[in-house]
Order: sequence, then C-alpha cells, then structure tokens
Amino acid sequence: MPDHFRFSYQGSTRGSTGRARASDRWSAADDASTAAPVNPLLATAVFAITFFLPITLPMGMAEAWVQWRSESGEPLKWDRREIEMEARLGGNEGATCLPRAEGVELYEFGPCWEDVVRSAADQYYRTDARLRIDITSSPAERTCIIGDGTNTITVGDTYCGYAFGDRSVAIAFNRYTIKNGIILESDVVFNTAVTWNSYSGPRRRLSNDTMLFDMHRVAIHEFGHTWGLYHPDESGQTVAAIMNSAVSDIDRLQPDDIEGILAIYGSKGISAGAADPPRVVLQAIAPITAEDRSTIRIRCEDEQSDCPVFLDCTDQGSGRAFSGALSDQIPAGGSFALSSADIVRITGGTPWDKRLTCKLRSPRDVSGQVWTRSGNGVLINNTAVAEPSYSEERYTVRLYSIPAPGGVDESNIRVHCPIDAHSDCDDIAIRCWEDDGTLHEGSLETVERGSVEHFQSQRLADLIDHRWQGMGLSCKLVSSFGITAQILTRTGGNALVNNSEVGRLPMQR
Ligand SMILES: [Zn+2]
Repeated sequence: MPDHFRFSYQGSTRGSTGRARASDRWSAADDASTAAPVNPLLATAVFAITFFLPITLPMGMAEAWVQWRSESGEPLKWDRREIEMEARLGGNEGATCLPRAEGVELYEFGPCWEDVVRSAADQYYRTDARLRIDITSSPAERTCIIGDGTNTITVGDTYCGYAFGDRSVAIAFNRYTIKNGIILESDVVFNTAVTWNSYSGPRRRLSNDTMLFDMHRVAIHEFGHTWGLYHPDESGQTVAAIMNSAVSDIDRLQPDDIEGILAIYGSKGISAGAADPPRVVLQAIAPITAEDRSTIRIRCEDEQSDCPVFLDCTDQGSGRAFSGALSDQIPAGGSFALSSADIVRITGGTPWDKRLTCKLRSPRDVSGQVWTRSGNGVLINNTAVAEPSYSEERYTVRLYSIPAPGGVDESNIRVHCPIDAHSDCDDIAIRCWEDDGTLHEGSLETVERGSVEHFQSQRLADLIDHRWQGMGLSCKLVSSFGITAQILTRTGGNALVNNSEVGRLPMQR
C-alpha cells in the first residue's frame, strides 16, 4: 500500500511533504486574546494556520466549533471511537508515580501526571459520543516519533525533535490519510519550558508572577485535536470553547466543544462505564449467602433524561472487583431496585463473600440507598454514612453512642478509605470521649486505598485502651484523608440497625 499519509507539524523543515498545519499554538498569551502578536514566531504560526486551513462554516451559526482539515480540505477524524495512547511521562526512573520525581505535588486530578491526562481523556468519554482514549503507562523514554504508528503523550523541551514556538505550551499533531482524512496517529507533547500543575478554576500564577499552567485543561484541549477539533477563535468566531487557541480560565469542555464532537462522531446513545464519575458509594451490601438481605434502590435524579448506571464494586473480604452495567436505563426521575442476586448476575455470576461496597457510576446524576432486612425480618435503611468534615488540613469523621463490647448490642464499625485517596489511608487518629468528657486516644493502622476496615467495639476498646459502659462513648476519627465510616449495630433481637446518622444543623457562618 503506498504511503498516502503525511505528517503534520509546525515549521517547514520537512520540505514539501508536510506544511505547517498541525501546529498547535496553545499559546501562553494568558491575558488578552491573541490580538496583535508581536512575537514573529507567533505571527508566523497564525499565518501558517490560516493559510493552510480552509475552513467552511455553517451559515448563520452564531457559534461554531471547527473541524481540523487536511490540506485538500478533508475533515480529519478517526474511523473509530476508541484509541490507545502511550503515556511516556516518566522515562525509566522506576518511580510509581511519574514524574513526581520532580517533587511536584499536584493540586487536583493527581497524584500522578498520568492521572491528570487520564482524567482529561475521560472528559470525551463522558459526552454522548463516548470517545475513549485508553492511556497505558510506558517506561519508554520521554520521546515521540511522528510516524511510528504509536500514539504518545510526552513531555519535552522540543516536540519529537522540533522546536516549540516560544509561546506554545503544548502541541498535538495528527497523521492521516490524504485520501479521506482518516486519522492514523496522534502525538501530544507538553512543553517543559513552562511550569505545570493541575487544578480547576481561574488561571494561577507563581509567586514570581509567571504562569502556573494547568495540565488538565491543556490536555483536554490537545485531546480535542487528537479527535479532530480545531480552534474556533482562529476562524473568526467568538465562542466559549476549550478549543480556542489560548489558555484561558475555561477549564473543561464547553457546549460548543461537545457539539463539535457529537457532529463529527455522532451520538453513541448513552451507556454507563468505568470512566463515568461515581455518583454515590453504597456500603455493606450483604452477600446472597447471608441471613441479612440487601436491596439497593437507585434513583435517576435527572428528570429530563434516562440514567444508565454502571456498578463498580469491591468485596471487603477478598478485595475482588465486581463490575457491570445495568442492562436498561433507569427512566428520568424513576427508580430501580436491585437485589444481591441481581448484582451477582450483572457483575458476572460469581457471588461475593463478605460485604460489598459499590460505586454507582453514571454520566447522569443518580442517587442510591441500601435497604437491609436482617435475619429476624426487621428492615433498615443502611445508607447513612458518617461523612468527613475538613478543617486545618485534617478530615474528621464523627461516630456517636457506640455500644460497649460484651453487651446485648454489638457494633461493627466500618472505616472506608476512598479509592481516590492519594495513597493508602494511614495514621488515622482515634479520639473518644466518655459521657463525662474523659478523653481516650488511640490510632488505627493503615486502611488500604479503596477498601474498608471493619472492627467491633471490643477492638475499639483495645485501640483506645479503655472500656466504657452502655452507649457512653463518642469518637472522632481524624486523618489527612477523606475517610468515611459507618456504625452498624446488631441489637438484642438480632435486628441490624445503622446508627451512623446524627441530627445536626448545618454550620452557621
Ligand atoms: Zn490547539
């Protein structure tokens, strides 16, 4: 098969095989628009882009996304909705969280740069077009080769050997077939000449007044190029779009960007998957073998659109993952009930052993409850979870009225380390007060990220080295992680109650 594709790159060092077209001037023009470029490189880039990009605009549209086009005017797009990209963000340094070697703590979307680009790529999956970039980690050198057929995400002071313009913070280029504009390869490079972090909201500056760039929004922009979008503002449009050519306070996909993606790829019809955001975490779902029977009830909080739901669950006993999607969408505003047996069926047919923790993922807003009928027939709403409050860089979870060990009521305390914690949750301080105000302290060893540590009141008594009477103990769990906790109590009649809920008015300012 003849070589019918070309490279896209900035500059003309490749002679006539590829002109300046893919150049991506995600410029550092941080304040004003791109008006009046004084930098000759910038001016060149603007010229090159407008010259080589024949843009056709739909008539009469006040706002319009722009599709990247080949020199012959073919709109560029992939012939599929799922592509793989290799993240080469760390070289061979052997660290697990690359390139944290530089000592950077990411403000958001971390802890690793790879997490940042994954989150950015997922934004396209969350549109109805369901475009997916599977990002794999690679220990390869942080370099890219245009034309080797591998889609890469790299960092460097050049892009695949070419010089960045001095206002370019990142570049994406696509290789495609001349005949029909089918994209064959996409490479994204972040310029190491600027300082990176990841955060949402307005742009931030360092103390020396230089710009601190948010890799998350820049990656969303670059992946827009990967999928075939171009800069609306460079075709005479004024529209709010992450695809505009300059980095701005826009930190996520805008309706115009999404419209563009949907126009190019079409709507896949909505389904839910592992890349959708978790909407609610439900804990302590009983296995089918238990005497307690659990039912989870899921409500589609979106009152206009139906809700697809993906179950993303972990067994606290084996740590095994159970996942799968509901076969039907929940009607807008409606609810759907699932038994433990239904969950087994949806997640592949194998029952779990202990208690299941499930995240309900959906592109729409959904809520959930766990109802558990205990062995003796008593039904309880088992949803209440003690949520952490945050102050002075510490999270605090409060548990009240914990029954003493050895009495007729036996409590099981469940501490959950969220899957999005920066690491395993360690160093959890336990501070408990008796009714007369006497303080007893202890600490809990590590709870693995994404898992639940559960223990009974006897163990709590050991941890704080104190035994109390009746329900005369209230505790705080204090840590640097957003842990949650539940306290389930088996009462004298073998009924189970969830006593995590506490009456409390919201804090007044
Ligand atoms: Zn761009």
